Amino acid sequence: MLSAPPSRVAIIGSGLSGLTLAIALHRQGIASTLYELREPTVSTSGALMLSPNALRILDKLGLYERLSAQGYNFETIAFKNHEQITTDRYYLGGKKLYQYKALRVYRQVLLTELRAMVKKLQIPVIYGVKFSHVISEDENGVIFAFTDGTRATADILVGADGIHSTVRKYIAPGVKPKYSGQVAITCAIQKSKLEFPERIDYPMPVAIHGKNGAFVMAPQDVDGSEVLAGTQRAYPEQDRAGWDALLADKDQLLSLFRTNIQDWPPIVQSALNNIPEETMAIWPYYVVPKLERWFSPGKRVIILGDAAHAIPPTAGQGASQGFEDSFTLAALLPRLAANLPLDKAVTYWKDMRQDRVDKVVSLTLQLNNTRLPQAEREKLAAEGQTWQSGDSGELGWLYNAQVEEDVLAWVKAETKISWTFYDGA
Ligand SMILES: Cc1cc2nc3c(=O)[nH]c(=O)nc-3n(C[C@H](O)[C@H](O)[C@H](O)COP(=O)(O)OP(=O)(O)OC[C@H]3O[C@@H](n4cnc5c(N)ncnc54)[C@H](O)[C@@H]3O)c2cc1C
Repeated sequence: MLSAPPSRVAIIGSGLSGLTLAIALHRQGIASTLYELREPTVSTSGALMLSPNALRILDKLGLYERLSAQGYNFETIAFKNHEQITTDRYYLGGKKLYQYKALRVYRQVLLTELRAMVKKLQIPVIYGVKFSHVISEDENGVIFAFTDGTRATADILVGADGIHSTVRKYIAPGVKPKYSGQVAITCAIQKSKLEFPERIDYPMPVAIHGKNGAFVMAPQDVDGSEVLAGTQRAYPEQDRAGWDALLADKDQLLSLFRTNIQDWPPIVQSALNNIPEETMAIWPYYVVPKLERWFSPGKRVIILGDAAHAIPPTAGQGASQGFEDSFTLAALLPRLAANLPLDKAVTYWKDMRQDRVDKVVSLTLQLNNTRLPQAEREKLAAEGQTWQSGDSGELGWLYNAQVEEDVLAWVKAETKISWTFYDGA
């Protein structure tokens, strides 16, 4: 069993979790190589909501200031009813309570900044290679293969290869992402096209909870002039070709988006009547069922991020939980020692991460219930299964967590060695 810091970590996937892991490992003095299927010239669309727990990590990695200047900074999303009365507010961030405002930023901006940091740190990234399978894993390390027949080796192999992870097949064979029955339909619209109600203060983002469910509008560029507008619908599961066909069929998509348009308040109707068709997107909600393990029996193959726990989007925590996985694993690996071998370290890590992911999944479910059509929502609200704000600060467990400090406190208890924090010097 590995009982010293690894000197060669291989990371499959240079998405948000993989890039973050490579940077965090470098910060801890551990070298890694990233292997990525897609060429870096492929650009992605859409924006992400990042909350203080993610932003704290990005800040420690030296990326926060640049990112915050390129996105929309805000604190709460207002919940409104059909009559446009604000019924609740959900904090996605908050300077006073949680140290950081929430940030909505284009995914491409985030990837570009992470890649620039990886380049600056001279971390190797091999593009255009598709991981295929693990060939062997023993006390000398892991040998693995790509689909082009080439091989590579590492002390530890980390699968950060997303919801349809191939590395996961080695750890949890047969586990497949499960469709939740809901699909989000969205578009990007100019704020100037929306008909705001008169004489009502209308801070954005907003989730309007009406008869049809919830309609969300969230600014996504620096000045808030472009707004993501979208709702979710129950929809039968499709295979990949079926989802592609739905996305390509603009008429069907428009009619799904506009179902029961008359039941929405005028501001939503104005969004639905001005949809820029080329910006329409769908997002079928798939989840990865709870896994028994996030590592192989030999412990040298580990999965994290969406590969380990893709969760529905309502709490905006998918990417953030991947950041936390990467940041905490990177804090553990350099501290492996005779009294802290790899099996003990990854067992602790998985249990600690799973506890947090479980809490996020429960929160997500409560929030998701507030977005259901009115009849279902009211039934679940009566049973206490929908989100209701309490005293301010109730999301401290999520946003104010000091995940690196927690890891180092555990390491100290196990090894009696006190580690100081990296100070960026
Ligand atoms: C429309 C949409 C909106 C979202 N909004 C939010 C939000 O507001 N807030 C939030 O926190 N989260 C959000 N999420 C979730 C978030 O995007 C994911 O949780 C996050 O991207 C997961 O990062 P990851 O690095 O684990 O996986 P991914 O981002 O999927 O990256 C996986 C990488 O692995 C590569 N790869 C895959 N297979 C292989 C292989 N065999 N060999 C080599 N490379 C491979 C892929 O090309 C990819 O680059 C959203 C997701 C979607 C789809």
